[in-house]
Amino acid sequence: TMKSANKSDIKDSNTDTNDDEKEELCPGFKDVDAFVKYGLGAVLSATKASAVLPQAGDEYDFYRSFPGFQEFCESQGDKLLHSMSQIMHHHGCRSHMRDRNKLTGLEERFDLVVDSNDVILERAGILLDEADGLNRSQQPVMPVGFQPPKIVVSSWNRKVGELTPIPRSETFRLLHAKNVARPQLKFKEKIDNSNTPFVPKIFIKPNALKPLPQMRKERPEDLDVPAALADFIHQQRTQEHVDDMFAHPYQYELDHFSVPEKLLLKPEPQMYKPLAETKLSYIDTLEDLVALNEKLCKLSEFAVDLEHHSYRSFLGLTCLMQISTRDEDFIIDTLELRSELYILNEAFTDPSIVKVFHGADSDVEWLQRDLGLYVVNLFDTHQASRALNLARHSLDHLLKHFCNVDADKRYQLADWRIRPLPDEMVQYARSDTHYLLYIYDCVRVQLLDFNHGQPGLLQSVWNKSKDVSLKKYVKPIFTEESYLELQRKQKKSLNTQQLTAFRLLFAWRDKLARQEDESTGYVLPTHMMSKISEELPKEPQGIIACCNPVPPLVRQQVNELHLLVQQAREMPLLKSSEAGLRQNHGCSGP
Ligand code: AMP
Ligand code: MN
Ligand code: ZN
Repeated sequence: TMKSANKSDIKDSNTDTNDDEKEELCPGFKDVDAFVKYGLGAVLSATKASAVLPQAGDEYDFYRSFPGFQEFCESQGDKLLHSMSQIMHHHGCRSHMRDRNKLTGLEERFDLVVDSNDVILERAGILLDEADGLNRSQQPVMPVGFQPPKIVVSSWNRKVGELTPIPRSETFRLLHAKNVARPQLKFKEKIDNSNTPFVPKIFIKPNALKPLPQMRKERPEDLDVPAALADFIHQQRTQEHVDDMFAHPYQYELDHFSVPEKLLLKPEPQMYKPLAETKLSYIDTLEDLVALNEKLCKLSEFAVDLEHHSYRSFLGLTCLMQISTRDEDFIIDTLELRSELYILNEAFTDPSIVKVFHGADSDVEWLQRDLGLYVVNLFDTHQASRALNLARHSLDHLLKHFCNVDADKRYQLADWRIRPLPDEMVQYARSDTHYLLYIYDCVRVQLLDFNHGQPGLLQSVWNKSKDVSLKKYVKPIFTEESYLELQRKQKKSLNTQQLTAFRLLFAWRDKLARQEDESTGYVLPTHMMSKISEELPKEPQGIIACCNPVPPLVRQQVNELHLLVQQAREMPLLKSSEAGLRQNHGCSGP
């Protein structure tokens, strides 16, 4: 079909009557956009309708006791499976969704759907690239760093009117980018993916009540004590030093922190400034960062949020920090200023300045891990929302509830490493903090009103927020047992050979991910790892067949993987329950 389409393109460029062609593309629709709009509407209403079906469990079992309901479910179920099966068939995927002989249950069907989605998305990706003029097979293969990174952001890099005579529709945006330069390459301090515990990055401690642990200068052999005692003292001190080294650097300050009295009084909510009238600054130089820090140190509160990327990095990367004051918004490039951001500790750990976050659990860890930043006097609006028992606790819900703003969360999962940052993403990022100080005012008023003016509930939110700021980043550590934890979540029982394969693949994936600084999901997604373990392919080609699309590192090291699978096949075969006991080292199950 591709060939014939090309031919007709050539014909059309001469004849100028391609209306028929258009209609053929999406029969019954004016253009692709009309079709996409209709399709999205249909999908949304189906999703909504399925959400109001009786929930699994008692409710569903009760309804099932009515024969009419049961029949309806079965006929609709068959219809759905039939449609899905047709779609899969159309895309050349395995499509025996309805074949009761070949499939045992929901899980297998689910796997089939996941696989097919992968195939369909990959195909869509390839076709879109082609439409964008990017031909995959013609890309030069050169080591990273030997060529200027070519940034292809599927739609943003195309100026309207330059390549397309008709402006592209607003409804169609791609949220992923290909060939984004690896920001890790520019980091001054190399990333430590070693299998060792995380050591806090802090070396200057502003607002300290207790100084940072110092290397002890006094050596035990200088003391006037017997050798055995000197040895003991030395051991004690070493242990103390080790404990201090891994402790939360602001543990003491947070333990001794109490909320200033005036923050427990009812505030007068201060309306946010309209976005259009608010100055926005993009900070990517040390000079501007220092100026920002000075500005923040003079305030009594500001709002903070982060954006993060986790697919092309082992530990994850903090890509952006958003800060809003009552008057201004700031977007800080935390990739560019990664080694400098620690200077914000002066404001971040100042107990007289409130830092407002929404759902800071991850943010607190990312701040420590990448930037060496800590927060003293945190107020988390997510904790406030919980205490107020609001219907939902997401930021978009608070925005709607207090500001009547419809948040567009489409960019949440965008690739935040992209530079220069497209304006749409900048606008999205700033709106995550722009309204937060006003929300902070509103929830404080409500927390006091809710409790008849007594500060108890508000105080409890501050305590919960403090617990969040006390969270410590813990690096993922590989142990001989790590694979079992993941395998249990797969809810499939494996025999000895399969479990051995899973263990070996898990170790291979972890090692490679650390070495190449990629996520384990990029190296080998868990569902593919399970599939290889279950099928134990005899040939390298069989391993490739378990993966769709094939991850680049799997393709590169398929022979290595083949050896691991062979090694697993040499294990004596035991039933799954025995296998579990053997490989579990006698530990009890989940
Ligand atoms: P937010 O606090 O909503 O701005 O989210 C911060 C970061 O968390 C985003 O940049 C994403 O990397 C990650 N994130 C947020 N929501 C999700 C989600 N539903 N699934 C995966 N990652 C998410
Ligand atoms: Mn956030
Ligand atoms: Zn955000």
